[in-house]
Amino acid sequence: MKEFEILKEIIEQNNSFLLTTHVNPDADALGSELAFCEILSLLNKKVRVVNHSATPYNLEFLDEKNVVEKYDSEIHKNIFSEADVLIVLDLNQANRVVKMEKGLTEFRGIKICIDHHKDPENFVNHFIGGDEYSATGEIIYDFVEQTKLVKMNKRIAEMIYAAIMTDTGSFRFERTSPKIHKIAADLLSYGVNPTLIYDKIYDQFRIGRIKLLGETLSSIELHADGRIAVMKVTREALERNNATEADVDGYVNYCLSIKNVQIGILFYELKDAIKISFRSKGNIPVNKLAHEFNGGGHSNASGAKIFNTDIETAKEKIVKSAINYL
Ligand code: 5GP
Ligand code: MN
Repeated sequence: MKEFEILKEIIEQNNSFLLTTHVNPDADALGSELAFCEILSLLNKKVRVVNHSATPYNLEFLDEKNVVEKYDSEIHKNIFSEADVLIVLDLNQANRVVKMEKGLTEFRGIKICIDHHKDPENFVNHFIGGDEYSATGEIIYDFVEQTKLVKMNKRIAEMIYAAIMTDTGSFRFERTSPKIHKIAADLLSYGVNPTLIYDKIYDQFRIGRIKLLGETLSSIELHADGRIAVMKVTREALERNNATEADVDGYVNYCLSIKNVQIGILFYELKDAIKISFRSKGNIPVNKLAHEFNGGGHSNASGAKIFNTDIETAKEKIVKSAINYL
């Protein structure tokens, strides 16, 4: 890929790098950042990884060297001016970095986006990737393999494996191709332990997550003759169960485990907004549905945030729009 050569040259010609990813990072976001951080460190580059959100507790093991910093406008006021190159990973809209958006928009150095979402916003100098990729981690794998800028090692392989495993829904989503399985096989040959990585990400939760999941499953309502399933998580239930925002990740997928359901929607009460997660089966483009509410994402998995409303009002409006996509 021509873009890989451009990225390789930029890395060779610069010294100081700032990496960031989206709000509430998942394992693709963190795994990709940390793999890239490792690549740059092997090349003796100066690199900082600064994110809007704290790392979710079940993903802390990925950051074994404790390099990820949570953005603080005071502590980090010079990070943008100190970097030659800013690389954003696993997002394609500037507002996905929330408090870091101003720094990103005003950044004077070289801006790069490495991502696999649809319809990228025009906010960087170089866009690397495309929505044919299953995960941002897959792009980084191809980058390493094609440019040979560094040699693959166990640490990079683990980060990429975590990224791909989670963004393919443990190798079951649509982009689970022969290529992805070949990449996974290659990563395992570097010593990645798939049992351990799965266990750390999905089987080490706090009890609060499971109790809250129970309540959330009980809240499921069906609409449109059973083709749309809706669930909700209130702030009150979250706090009562001692759960965190990261615990809610993955709940919405249960909507699609009901026969005949084609669209699943989760409404989740944040402190200042309602977050909505959309999931769909087949060729129902929920990214377009999310777009109607200023969100985005992939055809079968997308999200949005809406302000100044409550769950019930939002639900009525959004279910009405969702029916048009069936
Ligand atoms: P989730 O529902 O798991 O938070 O997100 C599913 C997908 O939708 C992710 O790929 C994510 O990038 C995208 N997404 C979630 N929330 C938003 C949002 O507020 N804006 C945009 N543009 N994309 C989102
Ligand atoms: Mn991703």
